[in-house]
Amino acid sequence: MADLSTDIRYIKGIGEKKALALNKLGVFSLHDLISYYPRRYEDRSSFKPIAMTMSDENVCIQAIVADTPRLSRIRRGLDIVKFRAVDESGSVDITYFNQSYVKDQFVCGEQYNFYGKIEVKGARRSMTNPVHEKSDSVNGVTGRIVPIYRLSAGLNQRLLQQAVRQGLDQCLRFIPDVLPAEVVESCQLAQCGFAYENIHFPADFEALELARRRLIFEELFVLACALGKMREERVRESSIPLKAADMTEFYAALPFSLTGAQRRAIEEALADMCSGSVMNRLVQGDVGSGKTMVAAALIWQCWKNGLMSAYMAPTEILAEQHYVNLSKLLEPMGLRIAKLTGAMSAKEKRQVKALLQSGEIDLVIGTHALFSSDVEYKNLSLVITDEQHRFGVKQRSALISKGAKPHVLVMSATPIPRTLALIIYGDLDVSVIDELPPGRQKVDTFAVDESYRPRLNGFIKKQCAVGRQVFVVCPMVEENEELTVKLKSAQEHAAALAAQFPELRVGCVHGRMKAKDKDAVMADFVSGELDILVATTVIEVGVDVPNAALMIIENAERFGLSQLHQLRGRVGRGEHKSYCILVSDAENEESRARLKIMCDTNDGFKISEEDLRLRGPGDFFGSRQHGLPEMHLADLGGDVNVLQKAQTEAKLLLERDEGLELPEHRALKERVERLFTLSSDSFN
Ligand code: ADP
Ligand code: MG
Repeated sequence: MADLSTDIRYIKGIGEKKALALNKLGVFSLHDLISYYPRRYEDRSSFKPIAMTMSDENVCIQAIVADTPRLSRIRRGLDIVKFRAVDESGSVDITYFNQSYVKDQFVCGEQYNFYGKIEVKGARRSMTNPVHEKSDSVNGVTGRIVPIYRLSAGLNQRLLQQAVRQGLDQCLRFIPDVLPAEVVESCQLAQCGFAYENIHFPADFEALELARRRLIFEELFVLACALGKMREERVRESSIPLKAADMTEFYAALPFSLTGAQRRAIEEALADMCSGSVMNRLVQGDVGSGKTMVAAALIWQCWKNGLMSAYMAPTEILAEQHYVNLSKLLEPMGLRIAKLTGAMSAKEKRQVKALLQSGEIDLVIGTHALFSSDVEYKNLSLVITDEQHRFGVKQRSALISKGAKPHVLVMSATPIPRTLALIIYGDLDVSVIDELPPGRQKVDTFAVDESYRPRLNGFIKKQCAVGRQVFVVCPMVEENEELTVKLKSAQEHAAALAAQFPELRVGCVHGRMKAKDKDAVMADFVSGELDILVATTVIEVGVDVPNAALMIIENAERFGLSQLHQLRGRVGRGEHKSYCILVSDAENEESRARLKIMCDTNDGFKISEEDLRLRGPGDFFGSRQHGLPEMHLADLGGDVNVLQKAQTEAKLLLERDEGLELPEHRALKERVERLFTLSSDSFN
């Protein structure tokens, strides 16, 4: 007897090898299998008379095999099976390449369903390698809307479709509904069983839409409950309140006066830390808004209270940069500061670890190394994570668990529309720095196409001639991606630039390099030993190179708006007039509209709101910029209304049953608890 937790090997047709291939996709149990949603669907629901089909059309036809299939061997490695099939309206030549076994699957005079692309040449129609099955097959893959799944090596659609069909037949009736009945009713959602059945094998497109809406709602609802619960739990967690030292001493030691927004964020965070509850606060501020100073102020406060702080950056190079800058600022005030990163020698690490354990350090700055298992802290009281979208919730908690309920400050430069922030940062309080330090210049932004290349090269030359540096960013090409446009590869592009400008020093960082080599090239650029840096990745988003005044983004249409904004934030950080050039040959309206927004405004929040309006929330979830567990369906889109509705309902439910202890909430509670433990939420 199978249930939801039964291993997928239980399914007919899934042996050891196929099971391993499925495991690769995160599918282990029957529950995983039926939660493995299709990537897209093919509409094979209606049959067309052969004579009505048009060239290049994907169609289903129902036809009788009119002659005995002939197998011929054209040459070594090339077998062909050929026959003709007819219906009342006409005939079609069917050909299979290198599938000699199909010869015996067809019997002359019997009726089959075929799905595939029609080619028309003169009066003749043909189909190559169509999907086929006998017309009287049950649970077939023609004559209906068919699910198409993401595959891994060793799997095929037919196998997965049949496996999911069996999975559904086995356990559809066991699936516990995580949504309370009153929510299903008040939000007019489809029933649970209906949703699972129709997300895989939709009866029609209307049923598919109902199923999708229900399952997206469910995902977001579970997430909202999980975050809401985390928030509840932490509000109840008490900590020893800090005694607020007078900040004027700190402010007086700064080389500039802080903006009103910076001060407000500091005050809000201080109020948390002095309240007796644990702080869990997000500081959201555009690139260059001065978030580091907010962190510095809180570190200083902890030091005044005799407490230790840890500052976690996503990359070596950022850790180094913060280490240099914060040391410059805080050491003269008396703080003892150390660095801990993976790249340090074992001996150096040992020394720092000893100091951390004995509490002889007031601030440690580092990378993931900060929460490796052999690091112990005495009195860790404040944990700061920078650029938090690069850390998963789990990594954050790994560091938090090193202290006894330390205060947590998360800093993010990814502007998130308020509607989404509700969900994404559901477990945090938020301070927004909505003001830039005075005297910041706007980065002039232009969208150009290939025809500007010569002028663009002239501009690079001019900038470098006056001593400025240039960033060039190329999109990362995903593996297995079917490309319709030619993308600039970073390595090729760097080589082309080096040839174009023999007098300039060109460096390149790309995704396949080792972290150490990447950091070395970055360091050369930071120190001014390179004029042009070509990069594929946006790993180094936080890097500060005040001398860089030109940012060129190739195939700009391939980047999300928020990403473009982040990249642009790398220039305009010094006294020099700075420029951002978006190179794109994309002609579609949406791409043009998006690039135009970039040219029109430098305001990150406005850009993110526009992006949300243009593309819907799927992009925000899809880009995994939030550190939350992976969404299955919400990644694919959905709309803001569903998001808000799920959030509201979750809140109402938690008010009624804070701990999800009621028996009717058991399934929900289990899902909520699985959410953060099962998903791999690290994406570094
Ligand atoms: P981000 O918010 O992107 O992390 P940073 O903290 O790196 O921004 O600050 C960007 C730059 O602005 C730094 O060089 C920092 O010294 C400077 N800065 C921060 N606050 C102020 C301020 N109030 N006035 C002038 N410059 C400031
Ligand atoms: Mg920063």
